[in-house]
Amino acid sequence: MPPKIEGVTIHMRMHLDKFCPQCQINVFILIHHYPSTNSRSPMSRRHCPTCAYPLTNCLCAAVHPVVCRTQIDVLQHPREAKAAKNSVRLLKLCLKQQLRIWPGENADDFKTLQNELGSAANTALLYPGDSAAPLSALTHSSQQQAPLRLLLIDATWRKAYKMWQLNPWLHTLPRYELCGIDSNYERKTSIANALSSLECVRHALALLEPELELSALDHVFAARQQQLRAPG
Ligand SMILES: [Zn+2]
Repeated sequence: MPPKIEGVTIHMRMHLDKFCPQCQINVFILIHHYPSTNSRSPMSRRHCPTCAYPLTNCLCAAVHPVVCRTQIDVLQHPREAKAAKNSVRLLKLCLKQQLRIWPGENADDFKTLQNELGSAANTALLYPGDSAAPLSALTHSSQQQAPLRLLLIDATWRKAYKMWQLNPWLHTLPRYELCGIDSNYERKTSIANALSSLECVRHALALLEPELELSALDHVFAARQQQLRAPG
C-alpha cells in the first residue's frame, strides 16, 4: 500500500539505475490524485478557526448572532455530529452560549445535564408524539415566567426514538411539539413535515419570544443548504 499523508496518496518509486550522489537512491514522489469522495485535498481539509467548517465552505459571512432568553440544550447522537447536513452546528454559531450540545445516547451519557436540571420547573422537552402538547399552549400560559429551558434530541427519527426509550428521565418532563410547519430541509425521511433541528429551534423561538428577529437563522440555513446542493 502506498503511504498516505494528509489525504493524499503518494507513490514512491526507486530507480536503482540512477543514484542520487547524496542518498544513493532515486526517489520519485508523485502526488497521485485528489478523489472527491474518500480523500480530500489538503486545502479542503483546512478549517476556518471561527466557524470550524472547511475553508472552502467557510460560513462566517452568513453567520449573525441571535440573542435569545431561552436556553437550548441539545441531546445529540454521536453520529449526528459528523453528518454534513447537521444543522445544530449552524445553531451554535448563531446562538453561542444560549445553546449547549450534549453528545451521547443513553441516560449515563447525560448525567451532568440531569443533575443540572434537578427540579428546575421551567424545563420542557420538544419531542413530537401522542403525549406532546402544542408548544403554542406553553407560550400562552407562561408569558411572565422566567426564561425557559428547552431540550431537544438531535438524531435521525429512528435513533431519536431509541434515545427517547433509553432516557426515561426525559419522560418526566413536560413534552411539546410544533404543529403545522412545513420543512425546507432536504432529508431522507418518509415522515411528513419532518423538521431539521435548526428549523425546530427557529419555530420554537418564534413562539416563545415573538419579539426576536430570527432571519439570521434562515440566512445561515439557506447558505448551508446552497453549499450542500453545489456540485463537487
Ligand atoms: Zn468561517
